[in-house]
Amino acid sequence: MRTPEQYLASLRDGRRVIYRGEVVPDVTTHPHFSRSARHLTVDFRVAEDPAYRPVAIVDDSDSGVPISRYFHIPRTPNDLRDRSHLITESTRAAWSFVPLIKEIGTDALFALLIVTGEMDRQINTAFLPRVQAFYRRCRDSDLAMAVAQTDAKGDRSKRPSEQSQPDLYVRMVERRRDGIVVRGAKAHTTNAIFANEILVIPTRAMTEADADYAVAFAVPADTPGLTMVGSPRGFSATSEFDNPLSSRYSLTESLTIFDNVFVPAERVFLDGQWQFAGPLARTFVEFHRFTAASYKPPVLELLLGAAALAADANGIAGAAHVRDKLARLTMYLHTVTGLTSAAAASPRLREGIAVPDVVLTNVAKFQFARGYHDAVRDVQDIAGGLVVTGPSEEDWRVPSIRRLIEPYLQGRAGWDGEQRLRLMNLIRDLCASDLGGYLEVLAIHAEGSLETQKLTVLMDYDVGQAAAYAAQAAGLPAPAGKSAVARR
Ligand SMILES: Cc1cc2nc3c(=O)[nH]c(=O)nc-3n(C[C@H](O)[C@H](O)[C@H](O)COP(=O)(O)OP(=O)(O)OC[C@H]3O[C@@H](n4cnc5c(N)ncnc54)[C@H](O)[C@@H]3O)c2cc1C
Repeated sequence: MRTPEQYLASLRDGRRVIYRGEVVPDVTTHPHFSRSARHLTVDFRVAEDPAYRPVAIVDDSDSGVPISRYFHIPRTPNDLRDRSHLITESTRAAWSFVPLIKEIGTDALFALLIVTGEMDRQINTAFLPRVQAFYRRCRDSDLAMAVAQTDAKGDRSKRPSEQSQPDLYVRMVERRRDGIVVRGAKAHTTNAIFANEILVIPTRAMTEADADYAVAFAVPADTPGLTMVGSPRGFSATSEFDNPLSSRYSLTESLTIFDNVFVPAERVFLDGQWQFAGPLARTFVEFHRFTAASYKPPVLELLLGAAALAADANGIAGAAHVRDKLARLTMYLHTVTGLTSAAAASPRLREGIAVPDVVLTNVAKFQFARGYHDAVRDVQDIAGGLVVTGPSEEDWRVPSIRRLIEPYLQGRAGWDGEQRLRLMNLIRDLCASDLGGYLEVLAIHAEGSLETQKLTVLMDYDVGQAAAYAAQAAGLPAPAGKSAVARR
């Protein structure tokens, strides 16, 4: 397993990164990116910490040596439970910001192992050995990985091959004896800039006409022709006093552009087998939404805890409407954690790999996303207007100004002006800042927008069972086959 220092050194490899109009020569020393890079070492630091070691390291029966638990292929409900626990705990250690450099990559590796295994058997291809070799390389070198799934997509009502510009979905432009050449861009790729390997998989089901878009592969981050344009959104703050979270931690998404990138054959995992693009996209998401539901609880705990503290600071903790809001925030947190535990407890085995319960995982992610803005509203309501009207750190640092304003910021007995202001700053950072807006959009769209969870639930759950039950109760004949809603 690598140390944090070894991980950081591995990022100094000449990768092509652009940020705010400039080429970034070294992401580990760049004023903005060095903060992200340091934050992401949490996955490596947790593995070294005796308190976390039992959760973070596992004696792997496949490899015969201790490995990072992220790479441990889940075979049982306990494996899924422990993986979820590690994701939650490392996110909590980073004050609710999931590191996402091993979590998402292993989600994709598990999906690739399953789908190429099924594909090889069904249509006589030979991709599984390549995926297995690549998986072992990532595991044994303890690599950081990003997953580029979401394409640029252009007109959402059209398929990849129907777009007015052919590169709006990543596609194969040339097939060579020793590999393929790909072109196009993937959008919103979290932490590709800080990964060793970029895993690329399809974002949707394809038809035969889309065969050139049915590609999956992996490339190192310094591959010629690969450019990552980093987004500055969400983490622009610099003052720890004003923005205690977003000034210290950050996640970075990129537009990840493949400009005629050559991918050697041993790194190609799908090249035109369009019937398997959909299953691969969906299987990845089945793991990834479970990861998502596992990393959400710490931010919900922060919202609940901040609301409880603000209620106390403002002297309204006993008010009926406040207790109602705190109860709802508590139930929201437990809805997500409870559904995630239940999803781990009832997996489906595919190719000997435990896939978390699909319906429960999607309900967990949906409930989180659907409830997020309501939770933010309740926290803002309890905290009051000081969240956005308070003085700045610069005012606070000048003794004469501080003496002038501090008495007016105090709350209930026990809450002096500084304590209450620091709490309001935390709430602003979470709920009413550049970061706050980023988190709201993340809640809705990351791991797939709300409608995709509904679609998945209706695809996986046979509503016909309930229809048959209702038909019986009404004295009607049992409906034939799956219900109309499930067939759509
Ligand atoms: C913070 C963040 C991090 C992310 N990290 C990653 C990552 O690491 N890797 C990755 O691959 N992706 C990542 N994503 C991408 C994420 O999965 C997508 O944002 C999400 O799937 C929505 O896609 P979109 O942004 O293109 O929005 P759209 O798909 O355009 O959605 C906008 C609206 O259009 C609707 N819509 C879309 N298509 C149709 C249609 N055909 N018919 C009817 N309605 C439609 C949607 O339901 C939604 O209401 C990330 C996103 C965010 C916000």
